[in-house]
Amino acid sequence: MKTPKIVILGAGYGGLITTRQLEKSLRNGEAEVTLINKHDYHYISTQLHKTGAGTASDDKITLHIPDLLKTDKVHFKKGTVQNVDFKEKKVRLDSGDEIDYDYLLISLGFDVATFGIPGVEENAFKIKSFQSTKAIYNHILRQMAAYKEDSNPSRLTFAVAGAGFTGIEMVGELIEAMPKLCRTYDIPLSETRIINIEASPTVLPGFDQEAIEFTTNYLMKNNVELMTSTKILECSPTSIELDNGEVLPSSTLIWSGGVRGNTLLEKLDLPTSRGRIPVDEFLRVKAVENVFCIGDAALFMKDEKNALPPTAQVAIQQAELCGPNIIASLRGETLKTFEYHHKGTVASIGNKAAVGKVFGLKISGTFAAVMKQVIEARYLFVLGGPGLVVKQFLKLGKPYSKVSAATHQK
Ligand code: FAD
Repeated sequence: MKTPKIVILGAGYGGLITTRQLEKSLRNGEAEVTLINKHDYHYISTQLHKTGAGTASDDKITLHIPDLLKTDKVHFKKGTVQNVDFKEKKVRLDSGDEIDYDYLLISLGFDVATFGIPGVEENAFKIKSFQSTKAIYNHILRQMAAYKEDSNPSRLTFAVAGAGFTGIEMVGELIEAMPKLCRTYDIPLSETRIINIEASPTVLPGFDQEAIEFTTNYLMKNNVELMTSTKILECSPTSIELDNGEVLPSSTLIWSGGVRGNTLLEKLDLPTSRGRIPVDEFLRVKAVENVFCIGDAALFMKDEKNALPPTAQVAIQQAELCGPNIIASLRGETLKTFEYHHKGTVASIGNKAAVGKVFGLKISGTFAAVMKQVIEARYLFVLGGPGLVVKQFLKLGKPYSKVSAATHQK
């Protein structure tokens, strides 16, 4: 009998952890597993804001995928998915290659939602991938260097759109990064501005009042100009127009106003809702055979009205079930239903502070910052055991130089 082929699209949190599950549980020769990803490195999405501000080295954020896999059981293919033919059961890559599958997992992650605001797509910098956040950092360096030449203050006005989870994490890293950058370029820190623009009346909408107050005070103490209840109407390469009539001269808008499913998902011949693919209780895509979808690409309804949020926590828990469910499908066994267990949420504000709730306990400040590190370390543990945690902590291993090249990609 032909060996069944399992193909996994995307090596983010969802795709990689599912692959590890398959490696662990498939019997020798039971299936051929192929993991496809745009790059041969995995980036830790939850730390991309650090790449944007240059507060973490590239080798802390990126991990070489083949090093994470037992390559005798899994084949890794670097490639960009262009389409899927669900009738013929083929994945098409932009190189022209076609890969057959019997079981498919779509774990292609997220894209940035810009809500059609004029100029944002073209001019704002996005926290989306390693490349896009590297472009933010390179742009900041270019602005600092150019300011030394022309003293144009708009070059040192760094605006972050959105004071939700990701926006606050980005602002926190900028607070952390600015003193060092200013020393490097010999620019007084007082000449830089960090502006955080948020449409809601407070930072961190959805967090409890203590977290909101702690974060607001922290930003004020660090001279962040907080503009709540303010909407961005338009953005050009050198200015940001606000709904209060103000036009901010700034050559840097970092957009963290929201996410949606990968735009590729809407090009596939599948129903989508809110840019994501609806899945059933077993994480299978409805109406196509043997296709699963998890993480930010999937729309999993936790009740009639509400979907699970696009978080790493959800992607990891789904991956931990998706691997066994793919194996159950190919063995003709009963699949298990997905149940999400929310363990908490912690948003970092730079390295030294964070806010959130863990197992129902409200935390803030240094203790919360330590908890954030523990959460990140847990992910590395799931991925590569204690060895990977220690290696990343000590920054051992070769720096991944190919991805650190300057890029203008937004
Ligand atoms: P991703 O991790 O986005 O992985 C998708 C993979 O698919 C990537 O490797 C990508 O390169 C690849 N890919 C995309 N398109 C193609 C293509 N066409 N062909 C081939 N490969 C492709 N969540 C939390 O729970 N806690 C946090 O603290 C937290 N902090 C965050 C901080 C930031 C700055 C950001 C941006 C997100 C944060 N999140 C957090 C959300 C979390 O990162 C996402 O929910 C998570 O990454 C989703 O995992 P995923 O596997 O679905 O997708």
